[in-house]
Parts: sequence; structure tokens; C-alpha cells
Amino acid sequence: MRVVFLGPPGSGKGTQARLLAERLRVPDISTGEMLRAAVHEGTPLGQKVKAVMEKGDLVSDDLMIALVRKRIEAPDAAAGFVLDGFPRTIEQAVALERILSGNERPVSAVVNLSVPEPALIDRLAGRSGLEHRADDGRDTVFERLRIYHEKSEPLIEFYRRRGLLNEVDAAGTVSEVTDRIGRALDQARVARGVA
Ligand code: ADP
Repeated sequence: MRVVFLGPPGSGKGTQARLLAERLRVPDISTGEMLRAAVHEGTPLGQKVKAVMEKGDLVSDDLMIALVRKRIEAPDAAAGFVLDGFPRTIEQAVALERILSGNERPVSAVVNLSVPEPALIDRLAGRSGLEHRADDGRDTVFERLRIYHEKSEPLIEFYRRRGLLNEVDAAGTVSEVTDRIGRALDQARVARGVA
């Protein structure tokens, strides 16, 4: 299965993507983690993206598309993957379709995690204290939410039109949300008759 996760920052995408990838026994491809690792290691990519990430901005589509193309063409992703953090723009989504149709293995399902905005802000404020992420400062949180609404939210409609969208309520505990995702994907699989 090739599953894409959508959702605003603070929706719990990263956690749920990891759990689903374990369950499906496929790699969990998190572009945020890949970029943070590059920054931490001080690679040329890391040096290029550090300032952009700290501001809460998006890294350029060209860089992201090249990074993800390479990762999903690696042998361990041949049987499937869970994508967390990509696509984040329509241009990235169109590029992903092109990459995958070249390999004749399109996206199987998209999960959109939805959380009301006040709950999101609470979660992000809590996380900044716990994880010390450079991009979880208060101003950056609002900037990331603004960019999410402008650039990433249109992906919901993009995938709904393709009949791939599964809307999941992301309020509640981690395991409640995991169960909802499992049920949604099982239903989608039955409906589409895919393995
Ligand atoms: P979030 O908590 O907002 O879901 P991520 O861990 O997915 O954050 O990503 C952290 C940062 O990495 C983003 O704010 C952005 O700067 C950069 N980033 C990650 N994925 C992408 C992408 N697909 N396109 C552009 N920038 C990205």
C-alpha cells in the first residue's frame, strides 16, 4: 500500500504515519524528519534548508520533489510506503503522481487528519516545551498554520476529486485515532477492491 497523510501541523500526522507504517511493514517516509536530520548533520541540503525551516516556511518544491523521488525509488519502498509531510503543495502532488505513474504504482489512499484550530494551537504550544523544536516557537506556529491553509489545504480537494480521500477525526487519544484510520483504510480497500 502507498498511503499519503495530510493534516495541519499538530494534527498528529507524524505519530500516526509511523504507527501505520509499522502495521503495514513499509517505510515511514517523513520529509520533516529527513530535513531535520540533514540540518543536524550539517549536510549541504541541511545548510540550504535550515533558515527556511526555522521561519516556518516551505522548502522549495524542486528540492523536495528531488528528495522524495530518490527516497521512494529506493528498494525498501518498492512494496509500499507511508508518506508524511509530502506532498505539501499542489505542485508536489502533481509531481508525485508523475513519479508513481512512471512506476505504475499510484497512491492507494490518502488520510486527512482534521483537528479544530484552537486544539491545534494548544497541541503545538505543548510540543514546543516538550521537544524543543526550533520551529515550534509561538510566531512560527502561526506562520506554519497560515502556510498550511494557503498551500497545503487545497490538497484535500485535489485528492477528494481523485476518489482517494479518507477524512479522519484526529481529536482524542493516539489509539482512538489509530483505530479510526485503520477502519477508514479497511473500508477504502474493500470499496476499491485493492490489496
Ligand atoms: P509539521 O509538524 O508542520 O507537520 P514537518 O515535520 O512535516 O512539520 O516539517 C517541518 C518543516 O520541514 C516544515 O515546516 C517545512 O519547513 C519543511 N518541510 C517538510 N516537508 C516539506 C515539503 N513537502 N515541502 C516543503 N517543505 C517541507
